[in-house]
Amino acid sequence: MSVLKEREMEYRIAAISGDGIGPEIVAEAKKVLNAVGKKYGHRFVFTDVLMGGCSIDAYGKPLTDEVLEICRNSDAVLLGAIGGNVGQSDWYRRPPQERPEAGLLALRKGLGLFANLRISYLYKELAERCPLRQEVAEKGFDMVMVRELTGGLYFGERYTEEKDGVVTAVDTLKYSDWEIRRVAEQAFRIAAGRRGNLISVDKANVLDTSRLWRKVVEEVAKDYPEVTLSHMLVDNCAMQLVHNPGQFDVVLTENMFGDILSDEASEITGSIGMQPSASLAEGHFGLYEPSHGSAPDIAGQNIANPLATILSVGLMLRFSFDLAEEADAVENAVRKVLAEGLRTPDLWKEGSIKVSTSQMGDEVAARI
Ligand code: NAD
Repeated sequence: MSVLKEREMEYRIAAISGDGIGPEIVAEAKKVLNAVGKKYGHRFVFTDVLMGGCSIDAYGKPLTDEVLEICRNSDAVLLGAIGGNVGQSDWYRRPPQERPEAGLLALRKGLGLFANLRISYLYKELAERCPLRQEVAEKGFDMVMVRELTGGLYFGERYTEEKDGVVTAVDTLKYSDWEIRRVAEQAFRIAAGRRGNLISVDKANVLDTSRLWRKVVEEVAKDYPEVTLSHMLVDNCAMQLVHNPGQFDVVLTENMFGDILSDEASEITGSIGMQPSASLAEGHFGLYEPSHGSAPDIAGQNIANPLATILSVGLMLRFSFDLAEEADAVENAVRKVLAEGLRTPDLWKEGSIKVSTSQMGDEVAARI
């Protein structure tokens, strides 16, 4: 086998365990990746680095230049979660720009991550946890929410001024065509690899940015004839997510709408420990993490649910490494453990088999 071929099969991953349950869930995700490597003949090389609260303790800041550089030089980044108990930890007695979460924002910016993907999938074994009407839950849903991450209202100019006794606050919502185009291209590519259905969400009946959004998305659509595009207003989308979530395949939207809608889409699955996410840059690079936080209330007890993190490495295999069969293997292994009744305490119910964090990782790895 040529050296090139060997190099092709080696994937370098920067692993940020982070704080709270982070180290426990990342250990299980690595275990599953190693099982994938063994079965399919790939080598996953991890470089463990600190970010968040643990980096403040070690280096005095939440993200160092060295760590950012290591992440940049990797093929992908795996992140557990960062942050501590906001009311209690010393980390939160520091100015906002020096707290653990500032490390994550700086990392996202430093890596050029502009598209955030959240998967909302209702496992039939967990359908009873879905807060929607049972007849809606029984139909199930499987959607990807693609959210623009670095533009829009959260990044526009903002100020507060007082004039003649009146205080006025201003936030600016701004989008340029190239920002819309690059995230739309990601969304179309993803839709083309799924059921081929893309719904772009905006508020084009009111906002200029939304009218530009629609125009650019329609231009991009011409390059993806296999994908059916439709548009939906954001208020209608918020309603449709609880009324008929099964209609969605890929949803594309701007930063603030996506922030709100992706939380809604996660919530209707009823299982915080099950939602993977990815943040993608230009090309194949991405950062993969569970949607939940560092759960300091249950840290160090070996009871956290590692499945969202394990499913996140499934996304890494699919989107950063182009290994669709391996990604399917991870998702199928998760489905199998659930079908066999294995549950971490957050999902446990009478009649199911209670397992710890590390046992869950072992069981998924064994089914790859
Ligand atoms: P959280 O998601 O950490 O926890 C909310 C609740 O869900 C808790 O009861 C927790 O025990 C439970 N939970 C979360 N993940 C779980 C899992 N895998 N298995 C079982 N139970 C789980 O949200 P929070 O409590 O609001 O935040 C805690 C810390 O996490 C804060 O410091 C916050 O800033 C940080 N945070 C980090 C990220 C990130 O790293 N991307 C995201 C969100 C929150």
